[in-house]
Amino acid sequence: MTVSSDAIARVYVQLALAIEQHIPGYVDAYYGPPEWREEAEADGLRPVDELAREASALSAAIADDTEMDPQRRDFLAREVRAMQTSLNILQGEQVTLVEEVKALYDITPEWVDEAVFEETHRTLDGLLPPGDSLAERMTIRMKATEIPVERVEPVLHEIIAELRRRTRTRFSLPADEAFQLQLVSDQPWRAYNWYLGNCCSRIEINTDLPLHITGLTDQMAHEGYPGHHTELSIKESQLVREQGWIEHCIALINSPSCVVSEGIATRALSVLMTDNELVAWHASKLFPRAGYGHLDAYREHKVDTAKRELERAVLGNAGFLLHDQGASEDEVVTYVQRCGLLSEEEARKGVHFVNEPLFRSYIFNYRYGGEMLDALFAAQDNHDHWFSRLLTEPVTPSQIRAWMIG
Ligand SMILES: [Zn+2]
Repeated sequence: MTVSSDAIARVYVQLALAIEQHIPGYVDAYYGPPEWREEAEADGLRPVDELAREASALSAAIADDTEMDPQRRDFLAREVRAMQTSLNILQGEQVTLVEEVKALYDITPEWVDEAVFEETHRTLDGLLPPGDSLAERMTIRMKATEIPVERVEPVLHEIIAELRRRTRTRFSLPADEAFQLQLVSDQPWRAYNWYLGNCCSRIEINTDLPLHITGLTDQMAHEGYPGHHTELSIKESQLVREQGWIEHCIALINSPSCVVSEGIATRALSVLMTDNELVAWHASKLFPRAGYGHLDAYREHKVDTAKRELERAVLGNAGFLLHDQGASEDEVVTYVQRCGLLSEEEARKGVHFVNEPLFRSYIFNYRYGGEMLDALFAAQDNHDHWFSRLLTEPVTPSQIRAWMIG
């Protein structure tokens, strides 16, 4: 018996909703038929071995469906392989962190040598004003760029307007897209784009840690334009509404597509604005209007970029220390603070994120997703064309690797 592609997509979505009953938070976004979610909730915790059998049957059906668009089929096959890994882990299978990341995300994470961190420290040493230790100089810089929570909202709205205007002229944003912004607290992440469907999102900014004027534009590009909200609203419009590829009405937190989403998000700002354009806009408009006209926009941008990349690499190592090498959370906080040049508060937040079961392997997606886009852009001209393909097509890391050599 052959199963139609639409039936396969439906089983995929329903299986993911059933897995979410076992792993709350597994479904990052869902805007398909409400009754599918209601059915999954009514069924509650279905036996995991039953779900594993369904996943195997689904995998076989995808392999047999030679009529399906090949890129759609490859995407589904890899997402289902990740589901099977989640089910195996749920059944108690012991896997190393590398095995988990490979199977869930289609990437191979590696320990980063501390010499790489030291090189970034030297870069930062050249950028920060002179003073005592590098850590102390960073603390002073962070204090100088902090923006009080009560002053941040108008600044965010100004940033959003600028990024939206630029995104609209370059990429196919749906006419009815929009998002709301909300300041929240007591969350493991710094910001989150909750995709609600109908081309709308709610972007939450966590105020547990101080906010900094220098990082806000990157954060809004990451979550909004042309990052997560842009990707999901374009995929809803073009893949779900136009093509009827219902599998895109759901986004799974532990699947290869996450690497692509984080790649899009971490490179969103640099695709939209060159360094010079960004620095000029910060220096002439954003910083003076927000009361930070005295900051050196060029230097702050360089510091910000180096610091962010450093933190991502250090937190990957934190994952290895915590989950493979049995280090205690306190030991890892000290390590992250020293290598990442972070405050204890920031380090603790980062380590807490890496210790969350849903995010322990997710941490690698930022760095590897970003580097994958860098490699794609180095191999291919016309970056807007390739970024558009990432925003409009079903893509996994394997797909990007194929594009690089193709
Ligand atoms: Zn993200």
